[in-house]
Amino acid sequence: MILPFRRRETGTKFVHPVQPAPRTAVLAPGFQGSRLVRVFASGWTADAARFAPSSIAGPLEELRKVAELGFELRHSVVVLTSNDDATLSDEDREFLWSAFGVPVFEQQLGPDNELLAAECGAHSGMHLVGDFPTLRRDKNTCACGNPAPRLPRRARINELTDLLA
Ligand SMILES: [Zn+2]
Repeated sequence: MILPFRRRETGTKFVHPVQPAPRTAVLAPGFQGSRLVRVFASGWTADAARFAPSSIAGPLEELRKVAELGFELRHSVVVLTSNDDATLSDEDREFLWSAFGVPVFEQQLGPDNELLAAECGAHSGMHLVGDFPTLRRDKNTCACGNPAPRLPRRARINELTDLLA
């Protein structure tokens, strides 16, 4: 029997906004999979559909394609944005919500797919990930319990880091 050659995955570990992570298909390159997270670097494929994810993560364009195919999700959609993209608009959020009927989370990523800011289950802004020593801790603790400072929705993290520089 010949086993298919599996290249060791390199890339940044995908951090799902909900832990423990559900069965998730990541539709973007540069990520590392795990037991329940499978990476489809070239986007949605028949293999991705066979994987039967209950959550998908990827850039907005990829998620739109999956929505148009009518694929059903049971858990969540994670929109990956970067500093070069526009952040998720209310219209896009509405579109994903009506297409999939599951919670929508945004995550802002750095150039190496590292997580910079992430929306939590309370959906009241994006928690900053990492150290921002000059930034005060959030006085109004988020309903999720995470005290990390938050960016308002649709704020870009690079604007904030410029302010802090
Ligand atoms: Zn929160």
